[in-house]
Amino acid sequence: MLIVALTGGIGSGKSLAAQHFAELGAQVIDADQLARVAIERGSAGFDEVVATFGDEILRDGDIDRRLLGELVFNDAFARRKLEAIIHPLVRAAFELALSRTQGNGVLIYEIPLLVETDAASRFDYVVTVESDLEVRRQRLKDRGMREPEIEARICAQATSDQRVSSADYVIVNNGSTDELLHEVEHLWKSVFPLLQREKG
Ligand code: ATP
Repeated sequence: MLIVALTGGIGSGKSLAAQHFAELGAQVIDADQLARVAIERGSAGFDEVVATFGDEILRDGDIDRRLLGELVFNDAFARRKLEAIIHPLVRAAFELALSRTQGNGVLIYEIPLLVETDAASRFDYVVTVESDLEVRRQRLKDRGMREPEIEARICAQATSDQRVSSADYVIVNNGSTDELLHEVEHLWKSVFPLLQREKG
């Protein structure tokens, strides 16, 4: 199994790229999804988050992720506390999911905070999707996010230069979705088979 990390800043187009990889036949695991499950009601993560941030972050008995997001993206100390809870849980969930995968295909791990969690060396290959900041801001506005929310999230992430220097391959996604698809296909048809042979 070739294990590829797919990263990129918020609004860069990672999820769209991951979707294309899945359509081509990759197995895809999404770190954001693992993070959601890690703090679902009844989990150890849920208990830890509530013990740390208090009942105020609950709505109808579940963690209100939007409220939690507002809290941590405006307070770097709180963000670090949350990350200290969630990152190890996500990492363990990924290892478990990986141990359950079968076959010798390609596994794409969509991991926004690859650089921030210093995880690049754990993968066979690292792809980052990069778009200009203005393009990302516009996509996020179109998705209904407000400007302060967008800026807080962008500021909390690594810079494009940091991601690019950790990556083996950079997809520049400032153009059409067809161009993005073309890049994904190039990796799938021309790059990954070579890497699989090398690993094999
Ligand atoms: P997040 O970190 O928030 O999950 P992301 O990197 O996964 O962001 P996407 O959700 O894939 O980004 O893309 C953000 C938005 O921009 C989506 O609505 C997506 O459909 C759109 N988008 C991505 N790439 C393009 C493109 N090349 N042309 C037009 N729209 C695009």
